[in-house]
Amino acid sequence: MVKKIIKNLTTTFRVNKSYKQWPGLIKAYKKWLPVNDSTPIITLQEGGTPLLELKSINEIIGKNVKVYAKYDGLNPTGSFKDRGMTMAISKAKEEGCEAVICASTGNTSAAAAAYAKKGHMRSYVLIPDGYVAQGKLAQALVYGAEVLAIKGNFDKALEIVQALSEKYPITLVNSVNPYRLEGQKTAAFEIIDYLGEAPDWLCIPMGNAGNISAYWMGFNQYFKAGLSKKLPKMMGFQAEGSAPLVIGKTVKNPDTIATAIRIGNPVNKEKANIVKEESKGKFTSVTDNEIINAYKLLGNKEGIFCEPASASSVAGLIKLKNEIPNNSVIVCVLTGNGLKDPDCAIKNNDAVFKSGIDPDLNKVAENMGF
Ligand SMILES: *Cc1c(COP(=O)(O)O)cnc(C)c1O
Repeated sequence: MVKKIIKNLTTTFRVNKSYKQWPGLIKAYKKWLPVNDSTPIITLQEGGTPLLELKSINEIIGKNVKVYAKYDGLNPTGSFKDRGMTMAISKAKEEGCEAVICASTGNTSAAAAAYAKKGHMRSYVLIPDGYVAQGKLAQALVYGAEVLAIKGNFDKALEIVQALSEKYPITLVNSVNPYRLEGQKTAAFEIIDYLGEAPDWLCIPMGNAGNISAYWMGFNQYFKAGLSKKLPKMMGFQAEGSAPLVIGKTVKNPDTIATAIRIGNPVNKEKANIVKEESKGKFTSVTDNEIINAYKLLGNKEGIFCEPASASSVAGLIKLKNEIPNNSVIVCVLTGNGLKDPDCAIKNNDAVFKSGIDPDLNKVAENMGF
């Protein structure tokens, strides 16, 4: 009798068998990637992230426009960097490498550290002292990276790691590593696979501008294979105090609340300018204030907690509202998870937070407004 009940329960409540576990992006998109059967696949099952419709943004824009967020903050280490890192680390492993190095504003170091450990390698990360969000630093430490904080900004750190990787037997996993962009291009595949067509606009934050270049590569590959009929306009956004690609020259002392894109001399600047030209896109800057407004809006209207750098894609879209053609389909890339930067969240929100309340039903009710 009991046995029968248990059997009924398990058959009733077992997960729908047609939902298999997402295998990670290398397995999912193998034929589009430079891997072969002997490549060891180092994966944390990254990719396959949600594409969420943003109804509150649709309303702000009107014109029958549909806006989606590609929520890449839901990757295993909380940013899109995992897409590139699964490729870079798998290829490094294939080539027999034992240690990797990167310069990072935080997310690259978290991803490099996690994937290096998964592949039984050492990882070294150089970060700008005092300018890495708490969550990201915590991750690099927990994943067992060897963390070196330098008294200089990201651009200086990158210069040093590039030289180190030429001098010592250690693989550089910054976005100058071509495998990073190969992995990251799969986000464009996922968007087309879901929508059935490329969007009209892709809105994306730019730091080193590797990701915008990777998306463009992905959109082009599907387009050439006949899997989409159009190519999106690539709309890149930077923070006003750190906008070398918008003003067309290096920024010596970049400054913004969006630390993930606090980069004054993007390594992929030539690539990015080609993307802008080929796609007939546009690069625009947004103020920290506009970034924070979009950040709050995503949180309290959509239930999406992203990091400030990510919110620049939505801030930028809102800024360009008047230029959006009617009936457009737009995807904003949300590059990283809000939990990465708790300090920013606690300083920038419109929440009701009352503390020091007596543990008493009436007192609590009173504070609730009853
Ligand atoms: C790395 C990063 C970016 C910038 O990406 P690039 O490829 O350097 O342009 C944007 N947002 C977040 C959260 C990042 O981690």
